Amino acid sequence: TGEEVTTVSEGQQVICHPVMTCGTCRPCRQGEDMYCENVAFPGLTHDGGFAEYLGTNERAVIPLPDGVDPAEIAPHADAGITAYHAVKKAVAELNPGDTAVVIGVGGLGHIGVQCLDAMSAADIVALDLKESARELARELGARHALDPTDDVRSEIDALTDGTGAAQILDFVGADETTALGPDIAAAGGDHHVVGYGGHVHEPAQTLVDGEMAYRGTLVGRYTELQELVALVERREVDLRTSRYDLSEINAVAERLEHGDIEGRAVITP
Ligand SMILES: [Zn+2]
Repeated sequence: TGEEVTTVSEGQQVICHPVMTCGTCRPCRQGEDMYCENVAFPGLTHDGGFAEYLGTNERAVIPLPDGVDPAEIAPHADAGITAYHAVKKAVAELNPGDTAVVIGVGGLGHIGVQCLDAMSAADIVALDLKESARELARELGARHALDPTDDVRSEIDALTDGTGAAQILDFVGADETTALGPDIAAAGGDHHVVGYGGHVHEPAQTLVDGEMAYRGTLVGRYTELQELVALVERREVDLRTSRYDLSEINAVAERLEHGDIEGRAVITP
């Protein structure tokens, strides 16, 4: 640790918010870490990440509670915080009895289901092509899990007595999934776009008629990572991880590219 660091000491276990922020710009003052005007992102704008040591700043670290294993919680620094950030925005709009749809129960989606279950009394409906993912969703708190190749619109219609889903969390972000929004959203509902790769192709009138909105999601705030650590400590959120040694990094990256990694891969130096 540097000489001027006062809030943590050498050897202390921490989780890092993914970016280094300045603390003095207006977005920082508002707590919007991802909008920091002087942001630095280790691994993207700076070297670091897959190494024995990671250079970061004091503002980015969150001390871990006793009994929380750093390797177990590590994926929350990126995947978890992103899912949590989207869920927190959705939960602010969800009342008990509302329906929330989670599209894609993979690395981020399975965290999203658990956060929703812990933070709201909404009914969770998960969509995934894989039966194993649908089973996982039910295990983690989803009331229903549907195959997206079925007639999702009429199934959501039946489950909500024609009201539709108040909030949709799209962890896939493909053309097919963004197109579901207008079909299944309740009036005034939101379709949160977390995953990306596809496009949003909707007539402007669709958004006007149903007062629905597409909302983007980029990682999350430092304070949200603190809140997620609190959920993990309370055993509300459980992660599926597999561990690898730093020397295996290239092989792991290749397996990741081919979709051969179960849960989230954690590299231990
Ligand atoms: Zn800043």
